[in-house]
Amino acid sequence: MIVQKFGGTSVQDAPALERLAKIVGRSASEHPVVVVSAMGDTTDALVEAVDHAVRGDDAAARETLEKLESDTKSILDEFFGREAPGVCRDITENFEELRRMASAIAVLKSVPAASRDNFLAHGERISSNVAARAMKLRGLPAVAVDSRGVVITDDHFGRARPDPVEIEKRAAEILLPVTRRGEIPVVGGFIGSTPRGETTTLGRGGSDWSAALLGAALGASFVEIWTDVGGMMTADPRVVPDARVIDTISFDEASELAYFGARVLHPLTLAPAIEKGIPVRIRNSRDPDPPGTEIRRDAPSGPSAVRSIASKGGIATVDIVTSRMLMATGFLQTLFDVF
Ligand code: ASP
Ligand code: MG
Repeated sequence: MIVQKFGGTSVQDAPALERLAKIVGRSASEHPVVVVSAMGDTTDALVEAVDHAVRGDDAAARETLEKLESDTKSILDEFFGREAPGVCRDITENFEELRRMASAIAVLKSVPAASRDNFLAHGERISSNVAARAMKLRGLPAVAVDSRGVVITDDHFGRARPDPVEIEKRAAEILLPVTRRGEIPVVGGFIGSTPRGETTTLGRGGSDWSAALLGAALGASFVEIWTDVGGMMTADPRVVPDARVIDTISFDEASELAYFGARVLHPLTLAPAIEKGIPVRIRNSRDPDPPGTEIRRDAPSGPSAVRSIASKGGIATVDIVTSRMLMATGFLQTLFDVF
């Protein structure tokens, strides 16, 4: 079994859905579990709508939601053709609920963290439904599964912490029977729920984390993160035009690179999989043939001693020299206190 995660750009429009169906189709024999982010910039738009509502501007919130709804529906029209009305009906329900919530928030001029998560979760609820139907239309036995029944978290709304033990139990109860039937479960990343069933989110960009958690819970052979870059690179390609994609990198190296400015992903979100020895592959959904970069717990050293170079800009160095430092303890602490 494998986990395949598709980020926002990999589900952003009709051609992206087409590519997704092809990519998953090629892996059908490996029993994929598919995790999707919200389509394109949906989450940003939902955040914008909540912000308008919190300011009491219901009209602006509605406008943002209407634009998002019509943009989403034109993608569906393009992909689903004759079947579009059926898919659009589901989406209309999501947007009706969003409008009702926005109006309530606009009256109160404030939003409880739990309601905000509920609001934002519609992005992934929509994309998982859309992606499952898209695959079905292309002949794959895909079924949308509500990830909120599987990804159980605490009630730290907006930044909920997952409960790996409970997730493992639920994944075995809910996802395994689906894959055993030969079907492909499609779940939304980023969202989960408390044991009492309140919707939570894992924090922005949280779908990678969802994928790694599910990969770990299911003991997947690997997790694929399908994104819009070909993997981690030997240097920032905007600075070094002939930078190359790295084939294999250790988790520690990837973490360090991210810390020092490499932009591909937050390796910490991959930790649940890596810690269990499950490799994570970063791949480009626009160019699906190259193998991309594999992040593993231990990676053999490559042909050169240096795996990759990252840089951070806008950093000032302050050089402080004083004789009072000689033989003194606590000097650095005093210094940091000043800063
Ligand atoms: N859709 C969520 C976000 O934009 C989660 C994700 O994309 O990983 O933050
Ligand atoms: Mg996103």
